[in-house]
Amino acid sequence: MKGSFPIEKFQTVRTPFYYYDTNLLRKTLEVLRTEIDRHSNYHLHYAVKANANPKVLRIIREAGFGADCVSGGEIKACLDAGFPAEKIVFAGVGKSDWEIDLALDANIFCFNVESIPELEVINQLAGAKGKIAHVSFRINPDVGAHTHANITTGLAENKFGIAMADMEKVIEIAASLTNVRFAGLHFHIGSQILEMGDFVALCNRINELQAQLEKHHIKVDNINVGGGLGIDYQHPNEVSIPNFCDYFRTYRKHLNLRPEQQLHFELGRAVVGQCGSLITRVLYVKQATYKQFAIVDAGMTDLIRPALYQAFHAIENLTSEEKKETYDVVGPICESSDVFVKAYDLNRCRRGDLLAIRSAGAYGEIMASGYNCRELPKGYTTEDFA
Ligand SMILES: *Cc1c(COP(=O)(O)O)cnc(C)c1O
Repeated sequence: MKGSFPIEKFQTVRTPFYYYDTNLLRKTLEVLRTEIDRHSNYHLHYAVKANANPKVLRIIREAGFGADCVSGGEIKACLDAGFPAEKIVFAGVGKSDWEIDLALDANIFCFNVESIPELEVINQLAGAKGKIAHVSFRINPDVGAHTHANITTGLAENKFGIAMADMEKVIEIAASLTNVRFAGLHFHIGSQILEMGDFVALCNRINELQAQLEKHHIKVDNINVGGGLGIDYQHPNEVSIPNFCDYFRTYRKHLNLRPEQQLHFELGRAVVGQCGSLITRVLYVKQATYKQFAIVDAGMTDLIRPALYQAFHAIENLTSEEKKETYDVVGPICESSDVFVKAYDLNRCRRGDLLAIRSAGAYGEIMASGYNCRELPKGYTTEDFA
């Protein structure tokens, strides 16, 4: 063991692979459960796109949470993992007909609708089945978030949601359609957000919109504020569980919920991010003119976040206690962007050492690709190595 890693057991499987510390995942879920249960009208739908590993999904389902899906495949994965359909919400700007049909057949809780043409198609497909689909409208609140440009979603320039100016019109259209029922409003401003002020800005915007709707006597049963709470990539050991208390307190304090209104959250990264590590082996240490490379057997095909978002992941050498040296840690993929980190201090690396690339539980395994005809990384849990 080094930290909470069963290193001896790691030697029995092929690298690279994902390792999920399910003790940490369960602890994280317990904290979330406590926070959510302080309010009878708070509901959490785990954002499945962060990690759909069946073992991870099952543990989250066992904690009693719902699921936020963005594809038919995710809905299937959630039903397979035992999530009750009535706790599944379905978002996404481009839902295909078969995905809508699948969701209708399963009787999910709600569609988070992102455009008028989508609303019309859901109405038509629901009609063909003699069903009434519950729809929430994803409103683009034009609220920025202090995060990477590729993961802001709530600005007017982003493709997501319905413009605020069209909100009343779509609610009216929904009222005129026979096979949809207006269930509420949905928002999601971005990901890896650590400044509570960004969520305060969202709350203020929702308060304005609600006041506007009330003038027209429109009642909103459900408010869904999406996800986006970030994790501490710099300190995976010290801050292994995000500050959920602060997060929920922000909404409690700044969002003016009406009596009977239900508040829904869709956290993804904050739930699973810190429990996952990508375990990889040092293949070669290469001395270059001005630096040295630790060339590892994991690449951007296994964890694309550094290449895609310039994301930082802390790395630990699990094998070595030797004096630290400075390395660029790089993968074997034929792309110059296949770099995990540059000029990073690690205990001296030798061929065969195992490294843990930390905080990789969210948007890691699920984003893996087969580029270069590589095998997809496997995901193991604490139980697998018990
Ligand atoms: C991605 C996404 C989430 C989850 O975002 P996190 O930053 O992982 O919490 C929630 N809701 C919607 C609609 C999303 O697209």
